[in-house]
Amino acid sequence: MSKRIYLDHAATTPLAPEVVQLMTDIWTHDFGNPSSIYAEGRKARMIIEGARKEVANAINASLGEVFFTSCATEANNMAIKNAVRDLGVELIISSPTEHHSVLHTLKSLERDTAVKIVFLDVDPFGQIDLNQLKIVLESSNRKTLISLMFVNNELGTIHPIQAIAELAKEHNALFHTDAVQALGSYEIDVQNTPISFLTCSAHKFNGPKGVGFIYINGDNIVKPLIDGGAQERNMRGGTENTAQIAGLAMALKLALDNRVERMQHILSLRDYLIGQLKLKIKDIQFHNNYEGESHPKIINFSIPSTPKTELLLFNLDINGICASGGSACSSGVESASHVLEAIGLSEERRAIRISLSHLNLPEELDIFVDVLEKHL
Ligand code: PLP
Repeated sequence: MSKRIYLDHAATTPLAPEVVQLMTDIWTHDFGNPSSIYAEGRKARMIIEGARKEVANAINASLGEVFFTSCATEANNMAIKNAVRDLGVELIISSPTEHHSVLHTLKSLERDTAVKIVFLDVDPFGQIDLNQLKIVLESSNRKTLISLMFVNNELGTIHPIQAIAELAKEHNALFHTDAVQALGSYEIDVQNTPISFLTCSAHKFNGPKGVGFIYINGDNIVKPLIDGGAQERNMRGGTENTAQIAGLAMALKLALDNRVERMQHILSLRDYLIGQLKLKIKDIQFHNNYEGESHPKIINFSIPSTPKTELLLFNLDINGICASGGSACSSGVESASHVLEAIGLSEERRAIRISLSHLNLPEELDIFVDVLEKHL
């Protein structure tokens, strides 16, 4: 089989070879239970605490504010459900373009509790209006949580995190941000940006799947979502996955050490791809705000729907190209994307999401545009 072209890095990323090596070494040699008191356990504990230090340093948090989880979905559930259960939140302000791990958590809270959910309006790029957020905050005297993601996984749109965090602080509201698509690409400093909860997942920055973390600002005393043993300082029961936690920390360090060069490379690939698409594809419309605040790794465009475009992702696949239509997070089945619906994309148009990484090359984008052109 000829080499495949992977253009779906918002769905997941390949493991960095250094991370594979580290995890293999730990799986092979450091299998001790981190809660055991003998040497093997202490070694595993040391690895986990080293990883916690790396993560805490990366976002300028204290060690006691970082908790490892099984994924960002768990971390998002934890942030939102715990804020309602333990911190008296009665109103949640969010956006219809959030990931399902946030939206479905909100839905279940709406069903099971008295909490009120308000969704902000979004523009054609999925951006919120800070004035509307301000109005909602000012018009309520209930304890409020704002849950707005940092970078949108389908459109790349970047929410104004600093301004949202400051507004939240001004109105004595809590602020949760799902930073899954941002960590490793953008600097995050929780001392400068007043965030209550920040959630992340390793597999979006060349770390392993099945591990993530939550930052919980030390002012917020919450109880565990998953009851069990005393792991994670009584905040998350379950034997820690030592190798994956170490893999997360190493992948994050690699991403941050190389952040500036990687972002420059991705930006130049993005500009090149947009130029080629504009040149070669008729009636194309871009849904990522490439002239504004958006992560350059995500290019989301649409073309008029035809019987041929129904098979587009399939044709790309058989020509060796991995790309995505709606969000690829939850299933292999294509269903209408709630994000594209929220920005009002017409059913007459077919959307494609390309998501790039530092590993991509311009030649791969040429092949993608050629194959796309042939199958329209
Ligand atoms: N939030 C965003 C923005 C995502 O893109 C994803 C996953 O794809 C998640 C949350 C869920 O992450 P995980 O796969 O670690 O549960």
